[in-house]
Amino acid sequence: MPTAEDTDLPGPIWARGEPRIAGATHVGSVRQVNQDAFGRFDDEARSEILLVVADGLGGHLGGEVASRMAVERIGEFVRTSVGDPDERLRSAIEQANDDILDRAREDPSLDGMGTTVVCLLLVEDGRSWVAHVGDSRLYRLRGGSIRCLTEDHSLIATLVREGVLTEAQARDDPRRNQILRALGVREDVELDLGAVELQPGDVYLLCSDGLHGLIEDEEIQRLADHSSRPEAVVKDLIEAANAAGGTDNVTGVVVQIPEPMPIEPVRGGAGRLLERARALLTRPFR
Ligand code: CA
Repeated sequence: MPTAEDTDLPGPIWARGEPRIAGATHVGSVRQVNQDAFGRFDDEARSEILLVVADGLGGHLGGEVASRMAVERIGEFVRTSVGDPDERLRSAIEQANDDILDRAREDPSLDGMGTTVVCLLLVEDGRSWVAHVGDSRLYRLRGGSIRCLTEDHSLIATLVREGVLTEAQARDDPRRNQILRALGVREDVELDLGAVELQPGDVYLLCSDGLHGLIEDEEIQRLADHSSRPEAVVKDLIEAANAAGGTDNVTGVVVQIPEPMPIEPVRGGAGRLLERARALLTRPFR
C-alpha cells in the first residue's frame, strides 16, 4: 500500500463554489528517488489557482532539482508578473526554462538535467488555461467520458499521430520514454498553450507518465468516478499505478469543479404561499 506525500492542498473559497483539489506524488515500486514534483499556488487577489506537475529527467540528482525548480519558479512568476493570465503562464514557463539552464551551467553535477511540465491555471472570472512541455498530461472528465487535453511531445506519440505505430504497438515500445521537448534543455522552449472552458461537474487530472503510462484511460475514468473526494481519487490512482508495476514515479493532481447548488424556484414557492393565502381568504365564514 503506497503512502502518498502531501495529499491535502487547502485553498481559498471561490464565490461560486471552490474547486476541490488534491494532489500526491509517490516514488513508485521500483525507483529509489522521486524526480516528480507538483505544486499549488493560490492568488486570492486575482481569484486564480495554478496547479503544476513536473517530471524531472537526467542524472542522479539533476531530474529532481529541475522538476522542483520548474514548479517553484512557474508558481512564483505567474503570481508576481503582470498581464493576462495566458501571457503570464507562457512567460513563467520560459523564465523557468532559463533558470534551469543557468543552474545546470553553474553546477556541472546537474549538467543535462531537464523536466516536463503541465500547468492548469484556474481563473474564476474568465478563461482557464493549460500549458505543457513534454509528456505529462492534463485529462478532463465530463459527462461520462475522459479526454486528454494535451498532446505528448514524445517520439512515440508523434509516430502514432503519423500512423507509423498503432496505440497498441506504442504501449510496449521500448522508446516510450523518449520525449522531444523539455524544460532546461535548450535556450528556446516550445510550449503548447490552450484555453480550458470550465463547466460545473468537470473533473481534471494533471499527471506524470508514471500514472498515465501504467493505467488505461478507462481505468482512470472508473477510479475518478468511484469517489466524490479528490483525496480518495488521487490515492486510488497512485495505488492502481503501483499495482500495475509502479515502474516510475507517480504523480496526480485532481480538480473537481463543483456542481451548482440546487435552488428551489422562488416563483414556485411564492406561488404556493399565495395559493394558501387565497384559500384562507376565500374560505366561507360559518
Ligand atoms: Ca516519469
